[in-house]
Amino acid sequence: MFELEKLVRKNVLRLKPYSSARDEFKGSASVYLDANENPFPSSFNRYPDPHQVKLKEKLSTIKKIPTDQIFLGNGSDEPIDLLIRAFCEPGTDNVLIPQPTYGMYTVSAEINNIEIKNIKLTEDFDIDINVLNDSWNKHTKLIFLCSPNNPSGNLLDPEKIKTVLAQFHGIVVVDEAYIDFTNYPGFVSLLKTYPNLVVLQTLSKAWGLAAIRLGMCFASAEIISILNKIKPPYNISILSQQTAFEELHFEVRKNRWVTEIIVEREKLKEGLSKIDSVKKVYPSAANFLLVKITNARGVYEALVRKGIIVRDRSNVILCEDCLRITIGTRQENQILLNELNQL
Ligand SMILES: *Cc1c(COP(=O)(O)O)cnc(C)c1O
Repeated sequence: MFELEKLVRKNVLRLKPYSSARDEFKGSASVYLDANENPFPSSFNRYPDPHQVKLKEKLSTIKKIPTDQIFLGNGSDEPIDLLIRAFCEPGTDNVLIPQPTYGMYTVSAEINNIEIKNIKLTEDFDIDINVLNDSWNKHTKLIFLCSPNNPSGNLLDPEKIKTVLAQFHGIVVVDEAYIDFTNYPGFVSLLKTYPNLVVLQTLSKAWGLAAIRLGMCFASAEIISILNKIKPPYNISILSQQTAFEELHFEVRKNRWVTEIIVEREKLKEGLSKIDSVKKVYPSAANFLLVKITNARGVYEALVRKGIIVRDRSNVILCEDCLRITIGTRQENQILLNELNQL
């Protein structure tokens, strides 16, 4: 039996959240003298909607999920931090992180003084259920699963994720930052089945909106209400709310970008595979490729000298001699291939 109340930190359960002026009076009025705002007209003199209602309604249609199951953050990094703070007692609780993966889970846990149980993914970067089940204990509150995984690019086996959801007593966070680049539908539709599931997505990758910092968190209404309780009141600026709302009308363009990036990914993969020093190009369901290459650090530095920046992952577990290469435009990818062929 999953009991949310037992998982949440006691101080968070007890907490009476900050009540903003816009919480105490919703609706519309002609004279607002409640928030110590500047009364003189400018586009930005009023505080933004603390609950981002209009934006959530739009996202609700696109993602096919009720608005009370959506939390919006200042990038995905904000819900990652809030989940840790909501569920993990510093000095007592721990989080389980299969490595290699996105670095923010570790950084957020460390900032909050939460013990990290690192386990290894398999050689082909998938979950090892036995290793995972042997590694959590009664103080493990969160497991972070990134699918498609960064930096490897592969989708984790969905059946294994379902096994973890069914067997683990705590919260399973499935980070789907790259889900738009796969043809897998993702886990949002399974929120009804698994009360311990939290799905993270973002507008930073496929939607092309990294600059506005808009991360999405989907979960049960109960989990979402806990995040709402502890978030900074006005965490999404009016600039980000408005821009996101407008840009979400261009889903067709987003899908076209995704299609083009996937075509270029396969082309780049083919080009890289023909280079002698490239030992392996890992399968990718994302907008980047993990590439094993002789003398990765040297290649990285040579590319920097040519003004081409990739990500050196050669010091990361299971990624010895690997570079992570984001898919660029056809022209950018060709420039990279030309330089690599001349090294
Ligand atoms: C890029 C990325 C994110 C996005 O983070 P934002 O804060 O929303 O920009 C989240 N998770 C993973 C695994 C990523 O690679």
